[in-house]
Amino acid sequence: MKDKIKQLANDLAGEFVANRRHLHQNPELSYEEFKTQQYVAARLKEIGITPTEIANTGLVATIEGNNPSSKIVALRADMDALPIVEANDVPYKSLNQGVMHACGHDVHTASLLGVSKILYNLRNEFDGTVKLVFQPAEEKAPGGASVMIAEGALLNPAPSKMLGQHVAPNIPVGKIGFREGMYMASADELYFTVKGKGGHGAMPELGIDPVLITSHIIVALQQIISRNRNPRYPSVLTFGKVIANGATNVIPNEVYVEGTFRAMDEVWRADALARIKKMAEGIAESMGGTCEVFIQKGYPFLKNEPELTRRMKGAAVEYMGEENVIDLDIWLAAEDFAYYTHHVDSCFYRLGTRNEEKGIISGVHTPTFDIDESALEIGAGLMSWLAVSELAL
Ligand SMILES: [Zn+2]
Ligand SMILES: [Zn+2]
Repeated sequence: MKDKIKQLANDLAGEFVANRRHLHQNPELSYEEFKTQQYVAARLKEIGITPTEIANTGLVATIEGNNPSSKIVALRADMDALPIVEANDVPYKSLNQGVMHACGHDVHTASLLGVSKILYNLRNEFDGTVKLVFQPAEEKAPGGASVMIAEGALLNPAPSKMLGQHVAPNIPVGKIGFREGMYMASADELYFTVKGKGGHGAMPELGIDPVLITSHIIVALQQIISRNRNPRYPSVLTFGKVIANGATNVIPNEVYVEGTFRAMDEVWRADALARIKKMAEGIAESMGGTCEVFIQKGYPFLKNEPELTRRMKGAAVEYMGEENVIDLDIWLAAEDFAYYTHHVDSCFYRLGTRNEEKGIISGVHTPTFDIDESALEIGAGLMSWLAVSELAL
């Protein structure tokens, strides 16, 4: 089976690249993936697979093997692009000015199309069902994954296992990375409006200085991270925007603050958010002002089910060789695949796409992000192999 998959992936590699280039040239923003949805649906129908529309711009489909209800494994690709002006001078440069596949979701989608073709060809040679999940809007709250789940993507049929992959510009092409357990963070957005009473900078006694209140809040909140958090669970609190629009000699009426809180545990996450709100409000009040706290909740933390992940890593070693399968570190970025991981045993792994010799080194979400396209043959072939390995259990 492994050799058949490798052969098919190799034979079809040109098609994977063509699909990726089409998607890369025609990127669409989160929740607007209408043409992408049409393109994916058309390719699936060509293969012989009938997709169903879901979540407005998403698709689900199944490939039934023998005994289709014996086991169901879902495979996920995200399809949205980012509001970035592409700076690469390549033949497949974005034709949609200001929109760019700078997070590799074109690669994930093209890979899953490749998996679809490989496994449809081999459908008489495995037991169970492969469920294909093409989701919109990974990049934008509330996250396409949450909409997909709400609309029943994990039902009829309900998968017992789920896999997702993501490009990794820090990992050389030809290598794959796994991590068991907590892997990526929850991410919540914090918005504070600290109000005081402005006035002349020379007469602070007549006002209530919201700049000083904000300063105390920012310093004090780090205490929640250092003193209330269980040190076994990583967590981050960062404020990246502070606007106090006074002047050298003007105390403003209010200060506006934005930040992000990240965590690797849902109980701690809820506790920390409550503490952040209480402490910010309390400090402002004790200093004579107020602090309005608005928290935009984001994605949960991403957990890779340990036993599934261990099996997938083992299967990847069989496919790629031991030297090409690496262990990943915890990463406090967020990813909406995390929603699935709280519903079904899941494994989210990294596909190496870096090639220093070709100058392909830019990070995701940058205008010069690109991949070594030989990663597509691996991305499609390996995911096919992981799925049938798990179905064979
Ligand atoms: Zn991204
Ligand atoms: Zn991404």
